[in-house]
Amino acid sequence: MINETHDAALTSWVPGADRAGGDFPIQNLPLGAFVVDARNEAHLCVAIGDCTLDLRRAAERGLLDGLTPNALDALCKPTLNEFMALGAASRKELRLMLSRLLRTGAARQHETQSLLHARTEVQMVLPASIGDYTDFYTSIHHASNAGKLFRPDNPLYPNFTQLPVAYHGRASSIVASGHPTRRPWGQLRRSGDTNPVFAPTGKLDFELELGAFIGTGNALGEPIPATAAEEHMFGMCILNDWSARDIQAWEYQPLGPFLGKSFLTSISPWIVTLEALAPFRTSIPGWPGRAPALPYLRGDGMDESGAIMIEVEVAIQTELMRQRGITPVSLARASFGEQYWTIFQMIAHHASNGCNLRSGDLLGTGTISGQDAGQEGCLLEKTMNGARPIALPTGENRSFLADGDEIIMSARCARDGYAPIGFGECRGRVLPSIHHAGAAAGAD
Ligand code: CA
Repeated sequence: MINETHDAALTSWVPGADRAGGDFPIQNLPLGAFVVDARNEAHLCVAIGDCTLDLRRAAERGLLDGLTPNALDALCKPTLNEFMALGAASRKELRLMLSRLLRTGAARQHETQSLLHARTEVQMVLPASIGDYTDFYTSIHHASNAGKLFRPDNPLYPNFTQLPVAYHGRASSIVASGHPTRRPWGQLRRSGDTNPVFAPTGKLDFELELGAFIGTGNALGEPIPATAAEEHMFGMCILNDWSARDIQAWEYQPLGPFLGKSFLTSISPWIVTLEALAPFRTSIPGWPGRAPALPYLRGDGMDESGAIMIEVEVAIQTELMRQRGITPVSLARASFGEQYWTIFQMIAHHASNGCNLRSGDLLGTGTISGQDAGQEGCLLEKTMNGARPIALPTGENRSFLADGDEIIMSARCARDGYAPIGFGECRGRVLPSIHHAGAAAGAD
């Protein structure tokens, strides 16, 4: 999977692409969709340095000639779904073509240059029409820490090490980075009370996750073997699974999360492709030596290279911090490479009953946490369900999120011998709850 596009010595003529520490060097080339004017249809694009290249215009102007007619057609659509459905071959051809157009000394620099926009001048929108969204629960550290809060003697359910646990999420409320988070109302039972109330959540939380987009789907009734799971994965983004812990705690038994999660999910707008992630593949944690998974979750080479080293980070900036010009402070850093289950096992498990995955479907990895302090991927875990509030530089404390708080997530991959790449940002600010007409109905 490693080829000339991964060469760490490659540089680009695009401003900002060669800046040390930048997210979008020429070895990355993540795909997305943007609008310059919200009244117009979105165009697909690729991030490079400080710019985005308009892929629709590039296809129309003949800069991508050599791709199949289907691929050229798909790149002129407002979402990536059709291009995703074409599979890995088209994605790899596009990557190679873009790498050759954008590298230093490219013959068609002048023509390409006119199709660039400064990233600050465009608005990124959702990269795909997401038909279905499933959220997993695959960090053993998160599962252990969160489980300990509620079941100190038995934090990990016995199924955790046998299958990647998941629930079906809500696709309609997935938004791109920058969209605010309105504090949701819900039914919740406050500590010590017998009866629930209907009120704005008092325990608004984030969950630091990654998302994986499905490329080609599978037919209904035809499972995806673990060995083929990679062929169905398109690429990854950052995902914030906003959670209302008090609503969740009251509603989840016995069927799992519902309104405590479905009010909003934010993703970073760039999809880092499977090819861009290739240099950062690694062995699954605990291998060799870890008890093997059931055969349907195993494939050739998956133990050795199924995991992906992606470092994720979450930071907070409160309203008061913004007013005082204090930059966001980091709350946690963790490594997706330590996740107990790989994204490929999640895909194989999801389709193992014949459930059909479709191009543009989104899988959340579940909260990514590490074993140590400073590696907790949500406030529930970090503040021990509010018992141990965190102190901020303004003197403010947080057990859970307050109105005006902004959560900023980022992710990066680095390995000796390769150019480091980043995912951009997943950002969202908490807005106060709105008046809820239903809250007063029936009240005296
Ligand atoms: Ca989650």
